[in-house]
Amino acid sequence: MRLILLGPPGAGKGTQAKMLKEKFHIPQISTGDILRQAVKDNNELGVKAGSFMDVGQLVPDDVVIGLIKERIKQVDCEAGFILDGFPRTIVQAEKLSETLTEMGLVIDRVVDLEVNAEEVISRLSGRSTCSDCGGMFHEKSCPPKVSGICDSCGGILAQRQDDNAETILKRLDVYQESTAPLKQFYKKQGNLKAVTARGSVEEIFSRVLEMVK
Ligand code: ADP
Ligand code: ZN
Repeated sequence: MRLILLGPPGAGKGTQAKMLKEKFHIPQISTGDILRQAVKDNNELGVKAGSFMDVGQLVPDDVVIGLIKERIKQVDCEAGFILDGFPRTIVQAEKLSETLTEMGLVIDRVVDLEVNAEEVISRLSGRSTCSDCGGMFHEKSCPPKVSGICDSCGGILAQRQDDNAETILKRLDVYQESTAPLKQFYKKQGNLKAVTARGSVEEIFSRVLEMVK
């Protein structure tokens, strides 16, 4: 099963992708996570990507396309994968289709997580992540028991560099301009399904499951 999760920043793509990964035992491929790790490691990719990410801009297409091409050819992707945060532009989507065609594969389903801008801003601005286990918290909807400390592993919680008011607005603009057109792209291919990304994580997950059945 090969899935794509679409949706604006803060729609919950990462959360849903992790749940799908557990359920179907296929890898979650998050370009955002891969790029953030590269920035942390301060390697060549990280140096290239970091300056774009900090200001909420997209990393150039050729960089992320190269990355994904490598990744989906690994053995653990043979039974399928969940793409989370890729593709984000029409060019990326076209290159992905090309690569999959070369491999004799197709995307089975594209799930669009729908959430409005207001909700996105409130979700992202209060969000913090555990630097050890990746656990996510929110100052209003799921605050940690001790401020700044992860409930599950005791790790330090940090706000993402790009989760500040100014950069969030920029990311939303970029989404509208470059990524939202992908809905039309996949609708034409006939495999787009929309899901309301409001409510609890479990509620949204059951809607997603309905769509990938
Ligand atoms: P979010 O969806 O919450 O904005 P991500 O973790 O998916 O966050 O991405 C964070 C940043 O990483 C983006 O703002 C962008 O700079 C970069 N990035 C991630 N995926 C891509 C992609 N497919 N193409 C270009 N840039 C990307
Ligand atoms: Zn933790």
